[in-house]
Amino acid sequence: MNKTASTFSVCVFCGAASGRDTIYAEAAAEIGTLIAKAGWRLVYGGGNTGLMGEVAQAALRAGGEVIGIMPELLVERERALMSVTRLETVPDMAVRKERMIELSDAFIVLPGGLGTLDELFEVMTWYQLGLQQQLSWILNLQGFYDPLLEQLETMRHSGFVHGDHLPLRSASSPAAVIQSIQEELACSM
Ligand code: AMP
Repeated sequence: MNKTASTFSVCVFCGAASGRDTIYAEAAAEIGTLIAKAGWRLVYGGGNTGLMGEVAQAALRAGGEVIGIMPELLVERERALMSVTRLETVPDMAVRKERMIELSDAFIVLPGGLGTLDELFEVMTWYQLGLQQQLSWILNLQGFYDPLLEQLETMRHSGFVHGDHLPLRSASSPAAVIQSIQEELACSM
């Protein structure tokens, strides 16, 4: 959180699927649009399927810069979005996560599946180990992540998570997520 808005990069983790309700795709597109309108760079997994495609396409439509990081084995399966500003192809999933973390100043987690959780837990464990210093924001759309947030609090109260606070914020709408990041950014400048 030490950059000006023009160089600020936000990484979005989200489903490669769209989910069963259109609210997920709508929220993903809204996040993409708001990131671009804030003048931030979007970093994401590079795919054109599901919520990943929605976020990236919306950010591009709104004139934003989009960097996709795609492992070679997924270029076909997740159909790499070729219209991104820059598509980086990396050897495997581990390097993809490393590169996304390296490029980003904040992380937003939208509804998703196992891959999305894997990415969230990677950034939080890296934070806990002092390997990266950036916070994550969960879009808790209609309580989608309530059970996860509850479990994390249980782990913290029980003494299995270090520190008084998790490196995680949550908000229930795309606009509230963006506003919370902007407030954090303002405090750190
Ligand atoms: P999902 O939430 O399962 O739809 O996956 C969202 C994104 O996470 C996709 O781009 C996956 O390629 C990626 N991903 C990252 N790490 C993993 C993993 N260990 N297993 C599955 N997907 C992963």
